[in-house]
Amino acid sequence: MARAYAEVIGDPISHSKSPLIHGFWLSKLGIDADYRATRVFPDDLGAWIAGRTADPDWRGCNVTIPHKAAVLDHVADPGGVRGSIGAANTLFRTGDGDCIVTNTDAAGFLAPIADLDLSGAPVVVVGAGGAARAVLFALEKVGVGRVTVMNRSPLKAAGLLTHFGLKGDVVPLGAPLPPAALLVNASSLGMTGQAPLDLDLSPLPDEALVYDIVYAPLETPLLAAARARGLDTVDGLEMLIGQAALAFELFFGTAPPREHDDELRGLLLA
Ligand code: NAP
Repeated sequence: MARAYAEVIGDPISHSKSPLIHGFWLSKLGIDADYRATRVFPDDLGAWIAGRTADPDWRGCNVTIPHKAAVLDHVADPGGVRGSIGAANTLFRTGDGDCIVTNTDAAGFLAPIADLDLSGAPVVVVGAGGAARAVLFALEKVGVGRVTVMNRSPLKAAGLLTHFGLKGDVVPLGAPLPPAALLVNASSLGMTGQAPLDLDLSPLPDEALVYDIVYAPLETPLLAAARARGLDTVDGLEMLIGQAALAFELFFGTAPPREHDDELRGLLLA
């Protein structure tokens, strides 16, 4: 056998931070394996997956835009990702060599707030795209209370509340916030090249947490405003590293060395 490897696929893919994260952990653990970025065009996805699954050295891949839903057409889905989150971000091999899909975004999102008791708590989620699906799935699992979804396209947001069996409301972008315990930005607003997410945070209680899953830039205008108000914050690198950690273990059979997170964050920000 040649060298074991895993990778991230998408189109485009050169912006991906995954090779840096997984490469950092492989090097820290002294594992002789490779993690690369591979551009896969949408029309080639099925044939590409068939080729990789026939390669015994391939441990799996992370999946990003535009393939997160399409991979579900090509790989076994024993965990029912299609019917739940509706998008996968990881393909990996089971013990007997079969290739299956999963989604580590939901658990990666929850990891930094695992100590928070959100049971019955009112929350606000901005966005109704792929990332918001993972966030809403995770929030339903921890039993949050009413969920206010704020999105440019209200019908999409209403569909997600129903799909995940959550009680709550849909409001337009920029509507006044309710006094929520947690505010999550799961939209693209605030990302480099996008308009900022401009919200009046004053209705939030002093103990509210503001979580922005956007990681480029790391200090979004939303997080800056939350810090200026003295609120606790979680940035997008926490989720990015969290979802990668779960995938790393599926690929390489060992947990990554999270004691080096500060060094990793420094590299990701350089
Ligand atoms: P997506 O599926 O394209 O969804 C984008 C969301 O942003 C939708 O709700 C969309 O509203 C909204 N939006 C986009 N442009 C807008 C605009 N100009 N005005 C108002 N609303 C706008 O993208 P995604 O995959 O969910 O990703 C969303 C963000 O999360 C990205 O910044 C991505 O990098 C980040 N993310 C981070 C992680 C992490 O690990 N930290 C993981 C996944 C994603 P409509 O529904 O109206 O179109």
